[in-house]
Amino acid sequence: MEEQEIDLIISAVELGEESANDFLDLLYETDTPDIPVILVTGADSAALREHYFRRGILDYLLKKEISYDMFQKYLDSLYFNQDLGRKLKHLNIAVLDDSQTSLNIIKKLFDLNGVFNVDYFKTPKKFIESRKKYQLVLVDIILPGISGEELILQYRRRSSQCVIIAVSSIDNIKTVSNILSAGANDYLIKPFDSNLFMARIKANIRTYLLMEELEEKRRSLERMAVTDGLTELYNHKHVHRLLEEQVARVQEYHSPLSVAMLDLDFFKKINDDYGHQSGDEVLRDTAIIMKQELRDDDVIGRYGGEEFLIIFSRTTSRRAKNIVERIRQKVDAHGFGTEELRITLSAGVSSLREDESSIELVNRADELLYRAKEEGRNRVLAE
Ligand code: GH3
Ligand code: MG
Ligand code: MG
Repeated sequence: MEEQEIDLIISAVELGEESANDFLDLLYETDTPDIPVILVTGADSAALREHYFRRGILDYLLKKEISYDMFQKYLDSLYFNQDLGRKLKHLNIAVLDDSQTSLNIIKKLFDLNGVFNVDYFKTPKKFIESRKKYQLVLVDIILPGISGEELILQYRRRSSQCVIIAVSSIDNIKTVSNILSAGANDYLIKPFDSNLFMARIKANIRTYLLMEELEEKRRSLERMAVTDGLTELYNHKHVHRLLEEQVARVQEYHSPLSVAMLDLDFFKKINDDYGHQSGDEVLRDTAIIMKQELRDDDVIGRYGGEEFLIIFSRTTSRRAKNIVERIRQKVDAHGFGTEELRITLSAGVSSLREDESSIELVNRADELLYRAKEEGRNRVLAE
């Protein structure tokens, strides 16, 4: 085994004088302890299954269940299921059932499939009071003190994403539809077949994971839509929108609001002398310096190529000027990449006047910036 690459190991449980246990001991000591192992056996024993799942095997197959077709399909779906099975073992799972027998059966089913990350609750009170965030919840619908329907409604309000599966021996159509309407994703009727139980859970988890992936993509798109890719500051459009919101708020509550427009001096020359890549580095580093000097509720955006807009909420132009002056000094003193690559910046700072629009406010900062350039650059002018 040490001489070749192996993707999957299928082994018997009994290996002559030895057992799969001895083999796993050896495997876990090699450099490749993560190769998935499937055990094949003639003797089904719940204790053995559990033992081997706890030792980390991927699956446990019975010889009598294996046929050529079955095995072909099994291998085809292996990669997919392995992924799903692995994810299932990392979710927070809760089971709520007031019958200890029922809890034991469900625990056995999970244990047999190597799913140990499960909290078992016997009373609705304990479950509701638990602050842990579950991604999968199995609930019995006949409970003391609260109806299953009410409990599911409550839990659904708390967590819109989590998978809720109702379990019950009641197969009355009206009950099932009420429970699904209350917010359950699925309904399993007791007693369950062990294969069907896991298959239904996996099917629900698959949907949950897809939804989660979609949600993450949506969040990342939302982030991208407001962010400048190079500097990771807000982009022009977003910083403008935020400014408009702040101006509207300030017109109502009359607290001071200042903005600064900053522009790098002779930036074109950096590109010409050191190349566009170095120019990009300078923009990124400048953004970092600005962030270091600002508070969390200050907003900063890349306004144009080498131009930045900072919004200082609840800040007078005098204070804003001091902060921008500190940024100017830091940038002036900074060696970008190589020590000899130096740059300075000029800035204009303005403060909101009564009944003024965000455009007028930015225009005045822009005029001051223009004057700072004319007066020799590397300076901050404020109203
Ligand atoms: P001034 O002191 O008057 O502001 O001079 P300047 O050279 O900084 O101003 P100018 O507007 O003439 O040139 C800005 C340059 O910024 C031109 C453009 O190629 C460069 N630039 C704009 N966006 C980027 C960028 O994302 N990366 C790089 N490397 N350069 C950029
Ligand atoms: Mg410039
Ligand atoms: Mg410019």
